[in-house]
Amino acid sequence: MTTPDSAAPDSRAPDLGAQGPSAPGLGAPRADFTWSPDPEPVHFRLAQWYSEAARDLPWRREDCSAWGVMVSEIMLQQTPVVRVLPRWEEWMRRWPTPAVTAAASAAEILTVWDRLGYPRRALRLQTAAQAIVERHGGEVPGTRQELLALPGVGEYTAAAVACFAFDQPEVVVDTNIRRVHARVFSGHALPGKTYTAQQRKLAHDVMPQTAHDDGELACTWNIAAMELGALICTARAPKCVECPVQDLCAWRAAGSPPATEEQQTRGQAWAGTDRQVRGAMMAVLRTGEPVQRSVLLETLPLPAADMEQRVRCLDSLLRDGLAAEDKELVALPGVI
Ligand code: SF4
Repeated sequence: MTTPDSAAPDSRAPDLGAQGPSAPGLGAPRADFTWSPDPEPVHFRLAQWYSEAARDLPWRREDCSAWGVMVSEIMLQQTPVVRVLPRWEEWMRRWPTPAVTAAASAAEILTVWDRLGYPRRALRLQTAAQAIVERHGGEVPGTRQELLALPGVGEYTAAAVACFAFDQPEVVVDTNIRRVHARVFSGHALPGKTYTAQQRKLAHDVMPQTAHDDGELACTWNIAAMELGALICTARAPKCVECPVQDLCAWRAAGSPPATEEQQTRGQAWAGTDRQVRGAMMAVLRTGEPVQRSVLLETLPLPAADMEQRVRCLDSLLRDGLAAEDKELVALPGVI
């Protein structure tokens, strides 16, 4: 999956465009591997590992509000934690509730979003905040169905917020989790670009039972598998020798076969793309002052972008509501 949530339900983590992993020291299958399709031992190993190895991130702390969790989930789509942290902290300092977010200007919202990328996410987050105020009295709703009904909230975000903010044992599947599932349970090097019906079924099948603990282990499983994918079971260079489930992993037991063409995921190019040109234009607009359309088009510091691409990108920003135009002046929405 390559685009943010509303278009791609499992796209939270950035995909580094792996052509296939290279894990040093891996080769032929080892006879002493005890791979089992039973997910239960994997649950407990990962839960234990997570309790010791999890990163201390502000949106994971006990005192983080449901709104803080929701903001983090939308910011983290396609964006690494290290870039999200300062933007999340600034956002929560300014707009700690849906109500204050709903009342902010679009220009402020886009300015604080800064260079996180995919800035339509920022506007969608504000639209969701407005719906939370109107429909839920300003409180983030606690069920997947209610969350999914909010504008701009997709399948992934609804499940993640329900699980991480409200302890609901929903099936959460992002890029990292999909990769961990593919390796541990299917023996595949990579999960491929498309979230298939088979992978969806697998994600449901390997969820811990919720009968005995009200879903506590299920929620831990979601976050632990996600963290394993982020820290250990990475796309390009999984650290299998440090992995808590190395003796339970189907891919490792199979001798770590390379990714087939079908399993590969393609990285998103940046240089020369419309995303790069749009990002450069947004950086100019975020300075706050309206700028002449011709100046914006002609002085953009991207020599490789021809005028046709520049015009196309500016028009798309205007169409997406990320910029406004009046009498040949262009600015962030609401500024002119
Ligand atoms: S052993 Fe661990 S790190 Fe290596 S592929 Fe399997 S799950 Fe990923």
